[in-house]
Amino acid sequence: MRKIQESLGKLIELILNRSLFWKVGFIIGLCISVNLASVIYLYYFISKKATSLGFFSEIVIYFENIFYLILIISSVFLIIGAIAFWFLVKKPLTNIVNALNTLIYSPESVSMETLKEYRARDEIGQLVQTVNQLLANFREINVYRHIIENDESVEEVYERVAHILRKLSFSSFVIYEVSNSQNTMKVVCKSDEDLEVNVEKLFNADKCRAKRTGKIVSSLEAPNICRLYEYNGITNHYCIPIVSGNRVSGIVEIHLPMTDLTIRDKKLKEKLNLIKTYLDETAPVIESKRYAEALKEQTFKDPLTNLYNRRFLESIIENLTAQIIRRGTVLGILMCDLDYFKSINDKYGHEVGDLVLKETAQLLADNVRKSDLVVRFGGEEFLILLLDIKEGEGEKIAEKLRKLIELFEFKTPKGIVRRTISIGVSEFPLDSSAIWEAIKFADIALYKAKEAGRNRVVRFKREFWTHEEY
Ligand code: GH3
Ligand code: MG
Ligand code: MG
Repeated sequence: MRKIQESLGKLIELILNRSLFWKVGFIIGLCISVNLASVIYLYYFISKKATSLGFFSEIVIYFENIFYLILIISSVFLIIGAIAFWFLVKKPLTNIVNALNTLIYSPESVSMETLKEYRARDEIGQLVQTVNQLLANFREINVYRHIIENDESVEEVYERVAHILRKLSFSSFVIYEVSNSQNTMKVVCKSDEDLEVNVEKLFNADKCRAKRTGKIVSSLEAPNICRLYEYNGITNHYCIPIVSGNRVSGIVEIHLPMTDLTIRDKKLKEKLNLIKTYLDETAPVIESKRYAEALKEQTFKDPLTNLYNRRFLESIIENLTAQIIRRGTVLGILMCDLDYFKSINDKYGHEVGDLVLKETAQLLADNVRKSDLVVRFGGEEFLILLLDIKEGEGEKIAEKLRKLIELFEFKTPKGIVRRTISIGVSEFPLDSSAIWEAIKFADIALYKAKEAGRNRVVRFKREFWTHEEY
């Protein structure tokens, strides 16, 4: 008994492991065989009866003919059925399996593939369509990821998110960037400048439910869930946090029409899910770009004055001078040094000294063009590069800055401090076509200004340059 059970089990296993083609073939074959067997049985039964009753004639011939006819029709059906099954079921299913396997095991090659359209709108046709949609989405997300990874700045990435939103016909949205260290939020992209944004959450990011929970917050399921949404009762909102690890680095707030239809719209749900998938891809890229930018800021900026440092100057100087040469303009070089700065430290202490340095940096940066470059070159030395000036203009700008400092009152905890500044001026490429030499010439001119009594601007002259002296 057990043996029979075991072999039956094996047989079932064998059948289950065969492909669909063989299974269906087996069932059809079985049906035909049973039918044929019944017909044969009936034939012999009738022919026996006919002989015993003595009328073996027409009815038997008639039966024989029917038997052959059934045999032929069954064979033809079997062959046509097998061919149809092969093309309509087996092949598309195998293609789908292959496509899904590619998606799992070698996703990079998906970018080229799609399944051939299947014309019939039956279950297999729908399956082909769904798998094609899946492949297309995957391919688009793959391409998207490549693009954002190669974007230069995090702002460009936000723009891409905005583009995807528009492409999926979300026409009203706000993208926020979250600063976790300061617990603040800022708007980085808006579909429309006039969209109102609640300021409370900008200063305290934890007021934003999506930021606080790291979960989607939507008024579609829970009306009025967010008190801080500016359009409660007018439009719905669907806020998706951009989460990387367990940190929320941004929020995408999508505004949706306030109709019953919106809530039940299946297509809309699909699109919102798709946006979520895009944001999941975006999150680590934004995180790493923001980290890289912060690091860059740190290594290129002086923490006290927030001016660029010498390292930054070294990294850009070649590019900068190449542009000046190409445009055929002049680069003004101002080497500035506070006069008797040491005495501030000595008299009022280092903290006051720091304050004066910070204020001086601010003053200098505020009084040159935005495109000019102010660098903290040394302790109380600032290098200013004036881009695209006319010949001789550097000296005038230097004089303006000198006067500004001379008249400025530094308000410190120890009272008002006044200080003067000396500035040496040179011009690139007029004084030297080698930028570092031109900078050295500005330094030499500064030295001359100090020598001549300080609080003055000195324009570099050729005769200052004697090798023995420097
Ligand atoms: P001179 O008119 O010849 O330029 O005189 P000076 O005193 O300004 O020049 P000196 O080079 O003798 O002194 C510069 C001083 O700047 C020395 C240093 O203690 C101070 N210093 C440099 N960096 C900082 C800083 O970050 N903070 C403060 N408080 N002082 C600084
Ligand atoms: Mg000094
Ligand atoms: Mg100095």
